[in-house]
Amino acid sequence: MTPPKLERTLSIIKPDATRRNIIGAIIKQLESSGLRLVAQKRLRLSTEQARSFYAVHAERPFYDNLVSFMTSAPVVVQILEGEDAVAKHREVMGATNPAEAKDGTIRATHGLSLEENSVHGSDSLTNAATEIAFFFAATEIFPN
Ligand code: ATP
Ligand code: MG
Repeated sequence: MTPPKLERTLSIIKPDATRRNIIGAIIKQLESSGLRLVAQKRLRLSTEQARSFYAVHAERPFYDNLVSFMTSAPVVVQILEGEDAVAKHREVMGATNPAEAKDGTIRATHGLSLEENSVHGSDSLTNAATEIAFFFAATEIFPN
């Protein structure tokens, strides 16, 4: 049998969640889905970092508010590893709008609004690699 192909994806616990002291509750939901943390750090995004991280949305009307929100308090950035990790992570996060997210997902449980939706997750394997490199050096990643 060929071993399962492990993927890595980037997770961010957003300012609305760090502010409410629910980092642990969110990590519990991530770990319960079978994903494993292989890197983690707490930081406060600069305006430049937030603008660059969300550059794909630069032309959208919500971009400036999104950048203000993402820089409004510390975040936790982390790498999750597992089989099919990108899709599995998006599934446990739930839909972008918490009001539309399935019961039991992180956004349904904790999200406050379309903007303050508690978590970010990479949306493709290619973007996962780019986003991981945005925050982490190879020497900061420690799989079990
Ligand atoms: P993320 O990239 O944060 O994981 P997502 O991939 O589900 O979320 P995107 O379309 O990439 O959703 O939007 C990025 C983020 O911008 C959303 O998570 C949300 O915080 C914010 N956002 C998206 N659409 C809107 C909107 N119409 N109004 C306000 N904020 C929005
Ligand atoms: Mg996105």
